[in-house]
Amino acid sequence: VVHYEKIAKAYGDLQVLKGIDLDIAPGEKVALIGPSGSGKTTMARLLMTLEEPTSGAIQVDGESLWQQRVKGKMVKANEKHLHKIRNKIGMVFQHFNLFPHMTILGNVTAAPIHVLGMTKDDAEAQAIAMLEKVGLGDKLHGYPAQLSGGQKQRVAIARALVMRPKIMLFDEPTSALDPELVGEVLEVIKEIAQEGEMAMLLITHEMDFAKDVADRVVFFDEGHIIEEGPPREIFHNPQSPRLQNFLSRFR
Ligand code: ATP
Repeated sequence: VVHYEKIAKAYGDLQVLKGIDLDIAPGEKVALIGPSGSGKTTMARLLMTLEEPTSGAIQVDGESLWQQRVKGKMVKANEKHLHKIRNKIGMVFQHFNLFPHMTILGNVTAAPIHVLGMTKDDAEAQAIAMLEKVGLGDKLHGYPAQLSGGQKQRVAIARALVMRPKIMLFDEPTSALDPELVGEVLEVIKEIAQEGEMAMLLITHEMDFAKDVADRVVFFDEGHIIEEGPPREIFHNPQSPRLQNFLSRFR
């Protein structure tokens, strides 16, 4: 569902990604791990067109999101395609960015109504189902300020799910939470992962979580994919000294 091809990205003189090839199959759960600053978030930002690659190409569901013209200049999909592609991608970040003046239900129905053109009744029915799924069926008419960080993040997950994306990006979804709230959010993500059909790109520092949820773990360091494979191989039998060193910090 996502195809990164020879992706390079520099910020000024800083080469963050140095030729990344990564494919995510429909329904596949891929965890990106690696040291701070290794370019994991940049991978997500390129997919959201928040950043422009320096070179390479990205396709989503067979449609070109970024491509490189002969003279090297990067070209983004046109607005119509971009809109279509963005609707296939759900995103959950460290900070939840809920609309403070809207109810929980309002936060989750906004995009289905305004972006997908759903009727209010349909959008509410779907939103309630998603909020129940994340354990917040009793908070529909509350406001974000009344929720804990973990609950807010679960609203953010429901808000992304209601758009029925083909792939969900989770960029360190628990790193802004108090430690006692991390578990409930990871649990919800795990449950959604087990349902199956949606692909996931998980950027995380939670190694146990990556082990439980991912079909494949990809280790990034210094702009390259150093090692990738099923969690049991990556975590129990790492080959490269850099990955061994990285994992030793979590033991
Ligand atoms: P972390 O695990 O800490 O979130 P990361 O692997 O996600 O790290 P990125 O956020 O992708 O890393 O950042 C990679 C490098 O690029 C870092 O050194 C960062 O400082 C730098 N960087 C990111 N965004 C910009 C920007 N807009 N301008 C300049 N440098 C940037």
